[in-house]
Amino acid sequence: MKIVLFGPPGAGKGTQAEKISNMYNILHISTGELLRKNIEEKTQIGLVALEYIERGKLAPDEVVLEVVNSAIKGKDSFLLDGFPRTVPQAEALDKITDIDIVLNIKLNEALIVDRILNRLVCPACGKNYNKRLYTQPDCTCGARLTSRKDDTEEVVRERLKVYASQTLPLIGYYQKRNKLVDIDGTGSVDEVFARISEALNDFAQNR
Ligand code: AMP
Repeated sequence: MKIVLFGPPGAGKGTQAEKISNMYNILHISTGELLRKNIEEKTQIGLVALEYIERGKLAPDEVVLEVVNSAIKGKDSFLLDGFPRTVPQAEALDKITDIDIVLNIKLNEALIVDRILNRLVCPACGKNYNKRLYTQPDCTCGARLTSRKDDTEEVVRERLKVYASQTLPLIGYYQKRNKLVDIDGTGSVDEVFARISEALNDFAQNR
């Protein structure tokens, strides 16, 4: 199955992607994670991406497409998290593969900002936590938790603006193609995951 996990920054895509990936044994591809890995390894792609990520802007389509192309090459089942984020990215994706379903996690702006400003991430395994719900300094894998550099209020506001102008048009794009399923992103991680599982089971039964 080829799934796109769609939604604004902070809607819980990373957390839900990890759960879907474990439950359905499906490869999780997060473009944000792949770009951060390139930054850490100081690759050419990382050098370009850093400039954009730090300012809350989208990395150039060509750069992201290069990363995605090599990640999905030869795979017939995967979950894309954070990609596509622009119409040209979606068009490029349609040329190389056929997406089955787009799960659109919906959350209002106040909750998004609150979740992002309280987010902790594990630099080793990528797991996300909410500071209010998890008060330990270390991840369950043992690594020390940190905050993402782009999780500041100023950068978050910019990321939301970019989402509204460049990413939201994808809703119409996938609605037209009958791929979009809305998921209520409020409530606990397990509540949201239950909605996602229901949508995926419905899809599997009716395909
Ligand atoms: P994320 O981890 O998905 O929140 O992504 C973090 C940052 O990586 C974004 O704010 C963008 O700067 C960049 N990024 C991730 N995915 C994409 C994409 N599909 N297109 C352009 N930039 C991206």
